[in-house]
Amino acid sequence: MDYKDSSTDALMFITQRPDIVFERGQGSWLTDHAGRRYLDFIQGWAVNCLGHCPPEISDTLAAQSKQLINPSPAFYNGPMVELAGLLTRNSCFERVFFANTGAEANEGAIKLARKWGRLHRGGAHEIITFGHSFHGRTLATMSASGKAGWDTLYAPQVMGFPKAEYNHLDSVAALIGEKTVAVMLEPVQGEGGVIPAEIEFLQGLRKLTRERGILLIVDEVQTGMGRTGKLFAYQHAGIEPDIMTLGKGIGGGVPLAALLAREAVCCFEPGDQGGTYNGNPLMTAVGAAVIRRLLTDGFLDEVVALGEYLAQGLRDLAGKYGHVGERGSGLLRALILSDESGPQIVQRALAMEPHGLLLNSPRPNLLRFMPALNVTRDEIDEMLAALDTLLQGE
Ligand SMILES: *Cc1c(COP(=O)(O)O)cnc(C)c1O
Repeated sequence: MDYKDSSTDALMFITQRPDIVFERGQGSWLTDHAGRRYLDFIQGWAVNCLGHCPPEISDTLAAQSKQLINPSPAFYNGPMVELAGLLTRNSCFERVFFANTGAEANEGAIKLARKWGRLHRGGAHEIITFGHSFHGRTLATMSASGKAGWDTLYAPQVMGFPKAEYNHLDSVAALIGEKTVAVMLEPVQGEGGVIPAEIEFLQGLRKLTRERGILLIVDEVQTGMGRTGKLFAYQHAGIEPDIMTLGKGIGGGVPLAALLAREAVCCFEPGDQGGTYNGNPLMTAVGAAVIRRLLTDGFLDEVVALGEYLAQGLRDLAGKYGHVGERGSGLLRALILSDESGPQIVQRALAMEPHGLLLNSPRPNLLRFMPALNVTRDEIDEMLAALDTLLQGE
């Protein structure tokens, strides 16, 4: 399509985008080039945890951009140190390495585990991951992912990622051998269809990995930063993993990610790991503003309450229209359909009157909901009312 003096054809075609160009966002609402409004229950893929353009982020970016943008990763800067302190004080980890994307943080986790295996487990390097998992789009993280078709898309894969079955402890135990250095999983498989790991599975994995002397890595790129109602999803199981990765919500919409590890695992030496933008103060200042807001009194309790409110609404609709049900954790939820109408519902939601609704269907038989963590009950009601209309028209 044409937009102002340009054509969208100048962009590489990597996904089918609708013929709209977004120009503004505020809270749970987006406005396109024609002035049409959309209620947003995607929020940049569970990224904008405080909604579009929250004052915490806009003000921090403006202030930090006048103070210091990029001293280089070879030097400390204030926001980088502050955010590392906030993350370590509020988790079981002692050290942080900042990255720009979730995939990059996961690459760092893979490197750290492999180095640890070289030093402490006789060169063990295999990391057990899971079917239907998603860890990113670099070559190694695609190889770690259990997405159908990704094993051949850019063959040859990076080796060393045997796949176990999610929520099936025996399938993990069966894969552990001399070459195994770690198990890596998402506490809720997001792209796989919002499938939560059972608490007993997480606890069993922690016990099993300890007994076998290997590491437990949680990919909390989607589940971290309050998304499930706790600051980090591993906390629901009362376990302490060895390594965690964060992305998405940590920047509330700006490119920021992090690799966290327990002191005993931190074996990078100078030269092993780095990156031009890693820990730059413009992004880490935003990360600090975001986590400070998540840690304010009652914020996470409200995420739990809002999650239950959304879940109840989805259950009611599932019952009313004979769909399968609902699942998820906190404000990462899915409506499980009895048919494969997900993509079609997403299309119709976009075109609704008087305003559009942004929904996501990671699999044809389900719709995923990942609103801002400060979404209001009125906005949830409005989304549910629109969804009711959409499901009626099936
Ligand atoms: C989105 C996601 C990633 C990849 O993050 P990018 O910032 O897109 O590289 C990795 N792991 C999980 C669980 C994710 O949801």
